[in-house]
Amino acid sequence: MKYNIDFEILGSIVTLVIAYNFRMNYVARTRSDKAFLKMVYGILASQILDMASAVTISIESPKLNVINHILTSGYFICGFITTIAFERYVVSYIAEITRNKVYEVFRRVVIILLFVFALTNPFTGLQFNFDAEGVYHHGSLYVVGYIAPAIFMIASMLFIILYRRCFSKRQWISCVTFVVVVFVAMTIQLVFLNELYLIFGVVPIALLMVMFSLETPDYRKLINTLNELEKAKQEAQSANRVKSEFLANMSHEIRTPINSMLGFNEMILRETNEKDVFSYASNIKKSGQTLLSLVNDILDLSKVEAGKMELVNGDYDTAAVVAELVRMIKPRADEKGLELKLDIDRKIPKKLSGDVVRIGQILMNLLTNAVKYTKKGEVILKISLKEIKGAAAKLYFEVKDTGMGIQKDNIEKLFSEFSRVEEKTHTIEGTGLGLPITVKFLKLMNSRLEVESTVGKGSVFSFLLEQKVIDAVPVGEIDLDIPEADNGVDVYREDFTAPDVHVLAVDDVPMNLMVFKGLLKQSQMHIDTAASGFEAIELIGKNNYDIVFLDHQMPEMDGIATLLKLKQEYPDKVGSIPYIALTANAISGAREMYLKNGFSDYLTKPIDGAALTAIFRKWLPKGKLKEISGSRETASETGEKEDVRLKELEKAGISVKTGLGYAAGDEDFYLEILRDYAAAYGDTKKALVKSFEEKDWKNYEIKVHALKGTSKTIGAVGVSDKAKDLEYAAKDGNTAFIESEHESMLDAYGTLVSNIEEILCRIS
Ligand code: ADP
Repeated sequence: MKYNIDFEILGSIVTLVIAYNFRMNYVARTRSDKAFLKMVYGILASQILDMASAVTISIESPKLNVINHILTSGYFICGFITTIAFERYVVSYIAEITRNKVYEVFRRVVIILLFVFALTNPFTGLQFNFDAEGVYHHGSLYVVGYIAPAIFMIASMLFIILYRRCFSKRQWISCVTFVVVVFVAMTIQLVFLNELYLIFGVVPIALLMVMFSLETPDYRKLINTLNELEKAKQEAQSANRVKSEFLANMSHEIRTPINSMLGFNEMILRETNEKDVFSYASNIKKSGQTLLSLVNDILDLSKVEAGKMELVNGDYDTAAVVAELVRMIKPRADEKGLELKLDIDRKIPKKLSGDVVRIGQILMNLLTNAVKYTKKGEVILKISLKEIKGAAAKLYFEVKDTGMGIQKDNIEKLFSEFSRVEEKTHTIEGTGLGLPITVKFLKLMNSRLEVESTVGKGSVFSFLLEQKVIDAVPVGEIDLDIPEADNGVDVYREDFTAPDVHVLAVDDVPMNLMVFKGLLKQSQMHIDTAASGFEAIELIGKNNYDIVFLDHQMPEMDGIATLLKLKQEYPDKVGSIPYIALTANAISGAREMYLKNGFSDYLTKPIDGAALTAIFRKWLPKGKLKEISGSRETASETGEKEDVRLKELEKAGISVKTGLGYAAGDEDFYLEILRDYAAAYGDTKKALVKSFEEKDWKNYEIKVHALKGTSKTIGAVGVSDKAKDLEYAAKDGNTAFIESEHESMLDAYGTLVSNIEEILCRIS
């Protein structure tokens, strides 16, 4: 045979194996895969045609001229298709090129011209021809058959160099290898080897390298799974965030009505002389407090989860923190007949700095559990000093009990929310939130909770905390001023009057102020109220108060900021009288925080009558309080009177029950509010009409909002609802609704007020 095709035979076997492997293991899904497969088939076809033509040309018989023509043309076309497939493979990674219309048109033109050139060759003989003896000869334009594929190889090479960034490292290397191998093989073939067919023996090796750079189906599956996992993770995280935010908002919203319910309940406890009513109200108080602490827990937990919980570090007195913890837990331990033991290291520094509110909450959670899950024996609170390094003290906290204990397998589960692990505990009240909160708080403080427990013997919960030392003097023996255990519900009975005392209560929720006043109804004190810090500052500047109660959480300027501002504006009025903080969070350590901010004391909401009395006794000079004795009229007598006098109002569409509820059940107080409501009619109407005529919807919204609130307070539900609809319409910019409903609301409002005035005239 004229030509040596050994390399090509070997090469075609390799190409066949590649084609087989790709077909068996890969799925041609992407553009690169499809272009690669075309390359494989193109090379295989070229190899077969080249080998066949090598055989037929070697025979050099004119009888084979037609077959030779067909085989050689087919060889050129397949070789050309292979280079186009390679160019498509390269371009599959470069979106910019596939989008380039000029290039795409140019490429098509070249392809068509070459096909025309190849297909017309048997007639023109421009590329090659066979003479009468059947011998092969180059045509006059034979180079075109090499130039056209070379154009695509050169274009591919340029793309590989210019668009390096579009390829991964292994894709790029395999493409470069392919080009280099093809060019080197072509050069050797053209320049040195005439009779040895090398090129298609070598190309399959480069092809194999390209195949290694393709993504295997397993790799793709892995990537898909990872993507799905990432998506699921994101979804779970966002769902969790929404849940946390919802819980945080809801618990905040729920706290306000619970507080006022407990406030009114406190008045029932105080005023009733009926045994049954007293016992019902006592139960309401107990359940209400449980509910409130549950809501507070949910709020804390969701805050930590939403990443909104930040540590608030401040200085605190070690002894005071311990004393307060004992004060809070001792009554519960006494109630169950448990002994509460303290083992406090005398060497602990007297003053430390850290987030005392959270530390108090953590210890309270552990102590409450210890008492809850222990039937008999003792609960021990241990605090010891591990080491002092410079200004940092490492403290060890431990709460130990002799209770039911926890099974080993259950200890890990303790830290997940809402899990209550021991079956036996299901009769004990609880939510499964205490420990998760504890663990989360400790994590915020770079610590962790350790648990050791033996079923039937008891449990030990412990943790280490680093705190800054403020005063290194040892705390020594802690003086515990622990009150006696109280087994019943506190009942508040005002046992003093203080007609000369001037009090200011500041809270942004009017109902809280009303409750405050209601609780002190009998005391004859002069009570002023303010709805904001700004108002409070103004009042304090004008008047001389004996005591001021300042709500902590208020919009715009909170209680702490108000006190700070007062200090600057009226320094003489701050040091001389007690300022009591009102807070919705009854947490251990709060006192420290308020004292640090200049308050004399703090009182938790819902306000407990006894605690309120205690504040007055503690902070007012003895001479100002006059002890009282004697009886009060019974609740039923009051009830009868209410019915007769106020029945008339029901006829005017007013829900007396609602109105009276907002007036702390005080009939006279209610009538007073009604009078105020009626008196404000002229001004309110004028303001409403003015903003309506001027189309000043912002002010209109503010005015109807106020009318909605005041009408609701007196129990005028109809007018309140009408005002509410208008308020929402103003908020939404629905002027058509306002224009159609404004008059009818004013009519209803006017009729209501004239009815109230008439009834008030008759009954007073
Ligand atoms: P709760 O007490 O409201 O159920 P916690 O998160 O505080 O929620 O506690 C979760 C569970 O851990 C409890 O239900 C109880 O089974 C167990 N547990 C916690 N502290 C103790 C303890 N000191 N002794 C025995 N079991 C405990």
